[in-house]
Amino acid sequence: MPANILVVEDEPAIQELLALNLTQAGHNAMRALSVEQGQMLIREALPDLIILDWMLPGMSGIEFARKLKSDELTKGIPIIMLTARGEEADKVRGLEVGADDYVTKPFSPRELNARIKAVLRRRAPQMTDDPIEVSGLRLDPVTHRVTGNGDVLDLGPTEFRLLHYLMSNPERVHSRTQVLDRVWGDRVFVEDRTVDVHIRRLRLALAGSGHEDLIQTVRGVGYRFSAH
Ligand code: CA
Repeated sequence: MPANILVVEDEPAIQELLALNLTQAGHNAMRALSVEQGQMLIREALPDLIILDWMLPGMSGIEFARKLKSDELTKGIPIIMLTARGEEADKVRGLEVGADDYVTKPFSPRELNARIKAVLRRRAPQMTDDPIEVSGLRLDPVTHRVTGNGDVLDLGPTEFRLLHYLMSNPERVHSRTQVLDRVWGDRVFVEDRTVDVHIRRLRLALAGSGHEDLIQTVRGVGYRFSAH
């Protein structure tokens, strides 16, 4: 599944290289030359991952990372710090403010891709292509197919993304706002009750194989995917 990756890098040549590399790996690259531009893009749509240069004009990458990780809305977005400084103390400092990984320039595209994949798998399992199976319900991100006890279930694209997110994060209660941020990625034009509408459709589709009870309503809080 392609991820929306925000690149905050002030050197145009490196930014270009990063964007090209991400596009070739099948991701969508959003590009910012400064923290200010990055913040504008984040307000439009939450990225799935941020590649953040350490040395930026104005607010530094490390300050921005700290800010993102202290904001309820953005703290779940994984961050890979990018820097020319290869010292161990810097690495520790980067990880201390909440960065998920750290890549030193000059980097090889292959190494960066591997790290992106690892971070996405760890922080946003629905961004990887691994099939998930729970109690006979199986979702395959590669073929975009959902089966219940072997029978194909008919899901719309939004219901598919919703189920993928819920199955990737089982046994946890998700508020409508969290679901909107992580599944729709754009909180501006969608209302909370939209989530309820798609949950209803998803349950209807899962009822085809008797799996609708895996989606539980937690009154006053949100939804949970649970096999129990
Ligand atoms: Ca820089």
